[in-house]
Amino acid sequence: MYQEVGLRSKNAWTPEIDVRIANPPAALLAKYTQKEKAFFYDYAHFVVRLLQDENVTDRIHQVISAERIVTEKPVDIRVMVFPARTFRGRQNRILHGTYSESASQISLYPLRIPKEWVRQEGLDLFRGGSDNLSQRKLRLLYEISESAVSTMIHEILHVKFQQREMSRYGEEALVQKLERQFMQGWEEWILVPVQQALSMVS
Ligand SMILES: [Zn+2]
Repeated sequence: MYQEVGLRSKNAWTPEIDVRIANPPAALLAKYTQKEKAFFYDYAHFVVRLLQDENVTDRIHQVISAERIVTEKPVDIRVMVFPARTFRGRQNRILHGTYSESASQISLYPLRIPKEWVRQEGLDLFRGGSDNLSQRKLRLLYEISESAVSTMIHEILHVKFQQREMSRYGEEALVQKLERQFMQGWEEWILVPVQQALSMVS
C-alpha cells in the first residue's frame, strides 16, 4: 500500500507527549519568593497546556512532516520553571532553549520577567481568563506564547540538523530561517491556543 500525502505515518514523532515540567534544584528554588515561585510555576503549566493544544501540535506535526524529522531515541522535553541566566557580558542575549543530542533532551526557558513586576502585577497573568487582563498583559501573554512555540519548533529543527555534519553557524542560520517560515502569521493562529490554555486553569 502506498502512503497518502498528508497522512502521518504511525511512527511519526509526537513530541508533545514528552513535554514535562522540569524539577528545579533546591538551590535555585531558594532564590525565589513564594509569589515568584507561584508565578513561574503558573507560567510553566501554561506553556505545557499551550504546547499540548491541538492547534499547536498540528503546527508542530506539520514541521516534523515537512522536514521529515525522525528521532533515533525518545527526546525528553523539559519546560524549565525559571529563566536562564544571561550570558556573561551579553545582557541582551537571552537563552530561550537548548537541545542536547547526547542527552536527547530539549529544554525550553521562560522569558526573563522582572521580579518586581512579577510580585506587584504578575500574579493574575495566567489566572482568571483573558477577559480581565489589560492590553499590556495580553501582549505579554502573546509574547510568552510566541516564544514558547517558536523555541519548541527551533529546537525540534535542531534535532534534525544536528544529525548532519554542518558547521554550527550554518546549522543555526538554517534553523532560524526555517523557524521564521513555520512561525509566519503566528499573531493570528496563536489566539485560539492561548485562549484555550488560559481557560484550562482550574
Ligand atoms: Zn539554535
